[in-house]
Amino acid sequence: DDSRILQMEVTRFGQDEALVIVRDVTRLHNLEQMRRDFVANVSHELRTPLTVIAGYLETLQASGQAPKNWDRPLGQMSEQTARMTSLVNDLLLLARLETSERDSGRDRVSVRELMERVAGEARSLSADRHEISVHCEEDCILTGDAGELHSAFANLAFNAVKYSPDGGPIELRWKADAAGGHYSVKDAGIGIDPMHIPRLTERFYRVDAGRSRESGGTGLGLAIVKHVLLRHNANMSVASVPGRGSTFTLNFPPQKLTLASSA
Ligand code: ADP
Repeated sequence: DDSRILQMEVTRFGQDEALVIVRDVTRLHNLEQMRRDFVANVSHELRTPLTVIAGYLETLQASGQAPKNWDRPLGQMSEQTARMTSLVNDLLLLARLETSERDSGRDRVSVRELMERVAGEARSLSADRHEISVHCEEDCILTGDAGELHSAFANLAFNAVKYSPDGGPIELRWKADAAGGHYSVKDAGIGIDPMHIPRLTERFYRVDAGRSRESGGTGLGLAIVKHVLLRHNANMSVASVPGRGSTFTLNFPPQKLTLASSA
């Protein structure tokens, strides 16, 4: 067909001269689309076999009929199956976030309720190794996609747990001002060297692959957060001191908020 995607670049020279470069990026665009579809299809197709394997493994373990010396191997098989399941789910979610329409969510989400829910989930991941507190200065209603907002809020809280292996306080905080709403998660964990910060939201980028894998990470969490934020006109900032801890902040524009008291 003849629908083409063109990219134009204009450089001005003085008053009345300019250099215009027009590039045909149709092929690049189509390839990118194919890559996304491929990842989405593969992830989707892998879900059924994984469910079957996980189901039979669980049945076998519960039956008590597996040979005794198979306890460990079976345990590892379940663990790796669970890992693969979360990887496939994250890949599918990411592919969906990349393709579907931007700014489509119209759910009205209470920030306080979302934070309480996320804190509860983070507490069960932490198994009492951290003191997780919620400070919601003023409840707001966020407009967006409830499921996506939950994954963004939760990912930061789970990372705070995963990357503070020695425990310590974790603070979930919400502030609203003229510039918008700010959700931050502060931990007293391992911290991040500044050189890594610009790359954290790349797919599969990890500062320490071993540690990430050990803590059940897929390397896709912050890539998912980034895409959720793009779809909500929001952005993320990171402050961190290696060995001291990190603060991740999500900034939402005022247009996405209403004060809960005035709703
Ligand atoms: P993962 O599944 O590996 O946790 P993420 O995309 O969520 O993947 O995070 C990417 C990397 O950023 C992690 O592997 C880790 O190195 C680093 N990171 C994320 N959050 C924190 C944190 N709170 N403290 C220290 N490092 C972090």
